[in-house]
Amino acid sequence: MFTIDKYIVADNLQQAYELNQNRRNVIIGGMLWLKMGRKKIGTAIDLSSLGLNNIEEDEDNFKIGCMCTLRDIELHRGLNDCYPNLISKSVEHIVGVQLRNMATIGGSIYSRFGFSDVLTAFLSLDSYVELYKGGIVSMEEYAQMPLDNDILIRIVIKKDSRKTCYNSYRTSSSDLPVLTCSVSNIDNTWNVVLGARPQKPVITKINANSNPTDEEFNQIISQAINNSSFGTNYRGSKEYREILAHALIKRNLEAIISGGNYAN
Ligand SMILES: Cc1cc2nc3c(=O)[nH]c(=O)nc-3n(C[C@H](O)[C@H](O)[C@H](O)COP(=O)(O)OP(=O)(O)OC[C@H]3O[C@@H](n4cnc5c(N)ncnc54)[C@H](O)[C@@H]3O)c2cc1C
Repeated sequence: MFTIDKYIVADNLQQAYELNQNRRNVIIGGMLWLKMGRKKIGTAIDLSSLGLNNIEEDEDNFKIGCMCTLRDIELHRGLNDCYPNLISKSVEHIVGVQLRNMATIGGSIYSRFGFSDVLTAFLSLDSYVELYKGGIVSMEEYAQMPLDNDILIRIVIKKDSRKTCYNSYRTSSSDLPVLTCSVSNIDNTWNVVLGARPQKPVITKINANSNPTDEEFNQIISQAINNSSFGTNYRGSKEYREILAHALIKRNLEAIISGGNYAN
C-alpha cells in the first residue's frame, strides 16, 4: 500500500516543478501504477487544473497533453485517421475501458515501461516529448533517458504520410504483453519497433523500397530481429520471443504493403 501525506492541485507548472524536486514528492497521473507500489509519498502533485487534458491538432502536429487518458487517444478521430492500425490498436488490450479511462499518457510515457504498448507505438512515429525544463526531446532519446524529476507536459506527434501498423502478443487478452511490435514506412525507410523483449522498446531503421521484393521483405524482418536483443522472463523465453517477433513484424509489413488489410 502507498501513502500520501499531502495533496496539492498545482496552480502552475513552475510550482509543480519546484515541488517535484523533493524526492518524497511525486506528480500523479491516473495513479494506477503508483498505487500498486509501497511508496511513502510526501506531497502528491496533481496537474489536473492546468488544461493538459486536451489533444490539439493543427496542420503539422498533434499535441497530446499529459493528462489525456489512453481512452482519449484510443477514440481520437484525427489521430486514428492519420495513423490507422496504430494508435487505438496499441491500447485496445490494456486491461479494460475503465483502466484506460484513468491511465494517463503522461504517466505511461514518463514511466518508460519495457512492456509499454504506447511507447512502442509512438516510437514508430516522428514523435517528441515536451519537458518543463528539458524542452523538446525526441521520443527515441527520451525512451533511453533515466527517470528524473522533470515534468512531461505533452507529447508532440508530427503529421506525415507514413503508413503504420501495430500488433502485440499476449497470453490472455488483457494481460501484459509478451511482445509488442509496431512498424511504419515512409518513402524508403521502414521503422520496426520491438518492445517487451522484455526490455524497453528498441527501434530499427531499415532502408528498403516501400513495396519491397521478397528478399527485401525478409531482410527487414531479419535486420530488426538481429538489432533487438531478446530475454527470458516468466511470460516467455528468449527463443519464443524471437519467433513471435518474426510473426508480428511479418503481419505488420503485410498489412502496410496491402494498404491496411489487417490479418489477425
Ligand atoms: C493492472 C495494470 C495493467 C497494465 N497493463 C498494461 C499493458 O498491458 N500495457 C501497457 O502499455 N501499460 C499497461 N499498464 C500501464 C498503464 O497503461 C499506465 O501506463 C500506468 O498505469 C501509468 O499511468 P498512470 O496515469 O496511472 O500514472 P501514475 O501511476 O499516476 O504515475 C506513474 C509514474 O509517472 C509519473 N508521472 C505521471 N505523470 C507525469 C508527468 N506528467 N510528468 C512526469 N512524471 C509523471 C508519476 O510520478 C509516477 O512515477 C498497466 C497498468 C496497470 C495498473
